[in-house]
Amino acid sequence: MGSGKLRVVVIGAGAAGLCAARHILARGGSFYPPTVFEQSEQVGGTWVYEERVGKDQRGRTVHSSMYRDLRTNIPKEVMAFPDFPFEKRLPSFMHHSEVRRYLEQYCQHYRLREHIQFGTSVESVKLVVTKKGWRGLEWDVTTSDMIGKKETTTEQFDAVMVCNGHFSDPYIPPIPGLENFKGTLMHSHDYRCPEPFAGQSVLLLGAGLSGLDIAQELSAVTRPVTLSHSQPPLRSPLPRGMLEAPGVQRVLGDGALELGDGSLVRPDVFILCTGYNFTFPFLEPGELGLQLGSHTVSPLYKHLLHTAFPSLSIMGLCRDTVPFPHFHCQTQFALSVLDGSFTLPLREEMDREVDTETQRLLDSSVPLRHVLRLDVEQWDYNNQLAALGNFPALPPYWRSLYQANKEFRATDLLNYRRYNYQVLSDTDWSVERHPH
Ligand code: FAD
Repeated sequence: MGSGKLRVVVIGAGAAGLCAARHILARGGSFYPPTVFEQSEQVGGTWVYEERVGKDQRGRTVHSSMYRDLRTNIPKEVMAFPDFPFEKRLPSFMHHSEVRRYLEQYCQHYRLREHIQFGTSVESVKLVVTKKGWRGLEWDVTTSDMIGKKETTTEQFDAVMVCNGHFSDPYIPPIPGLENFKGTLMHSHDYRCPEPFAGQSVLLLGAGLSGLDIAQELSAVTRPVTLSHSQPPLRSPLPRGMLEAPGVQRVLGDGALELGDGSLVRPDVFILCTGYNFTFPFLEPGELGLQLGSHTVSPLYKHLLHTAFPSLSIMGLCRDTVPFPHFHCQTQFALSVLDGSFTLPLREEMDREVDTETQRLLDSSVPLRHVLRLDVEQWDYNNQLAALGNFPALPPYWRSLYQANKEFRATDLLNYRRYNYQVLSDTDWSVERHPH
């Protein structure tokens, strides 16, 4: 570390940004209090439900992809930040408004609010080579005031933690002829509630968590609801009126959807539950030597730190993780690098590790767009960050409880949210099922 304390900027006050701010404050000897820029007027990011779709009342693209009745899909026992459990009164699975409340409580408990500049959008982050700063680097961060006259301000920081969220910019798959579809075409980002779809036939593409949830909601008000996907058949009983079908291959000139088995369907509504693009409008990838794809960012050490400029970190890129504990580990690791608790390998070694790891996945037939899917590997990843960064690892029950929930979700989709978990020790937990 250099001679003095470091100035860290955090972009976004969702779960990741709040977590970063909390740990910067906890390491006060090495860091000035954080500066958090948040474009909206609230903390919570994606958990701030917005009824509108498209643009919000300030003309910004709506950030949140929450739907009205969403309930969490990970039990609170492992969804929480490890140092801040959800309230005891809550069931294991809860309505999204409770998660927003939880994040507000986290913010209040760690006194984060006074460090957040609301209504302030980060417009650009530029690297400045200087004699000062961490490793002779500084970052010029330009923000604009969203509420007032949109005036811009530029400030210097030693490190940048990017926590802008990765569930806002809909990914539209390249389906040949998609423009021919004659009905209502939309992305799950713009889905809020089932009632407007009553009486219409709906086809959803993608059997990820959103596709499964939305299909279930819709099947309560309309039918047929077809879940089209290219994965193995679902293992769980499904609601009446909900069907499975192969993935959509193309859209014909007359608007019919051709499925993987050659059959043709003509739904009234076609909902793309196809995930989201990474987007960093404030970064200049060329200048930074960053390769930004819609599902990849490279080269990042531990999927987190720019190998050439490690004072730039990007949180939460990994998919199929439990986000809050993952942020808890990622932010602490990034701070351990900055405060010298962990000494990074040489840049060439980090680049080599990134290349070797990517190649390993590609060689095992993982498509490039899925190389950031950690799933079961997330626990070793989190543990490794903790060991290197010299902070406590997550208790072992995290892994087994999470994996059990994943299996229950796969086999008992209609009921898994009624289960209640109890943590008995660092290694043990029990589950009470109330399925019927
Ligand atoms: P966000 O919550 O998106 O926060 C990013 C923040 O950055 C926002 O406040 C945004 O306004 C701000 N921002 C963006 N750009 C700028 C800028 N240029 N300048 C200033 N501010 C900026 N996770 C679970 O653990 N359990 C669940 O059950 C679960 N369900 C989910 C359901 C849905 C439909 C979705 C979309 C996600 C779900 N998640 C769930 C994942 C959820 O996204 C994460 O839990 C987590 O909240 C992501 O936090 P984040 O801070 O990375 O991003």
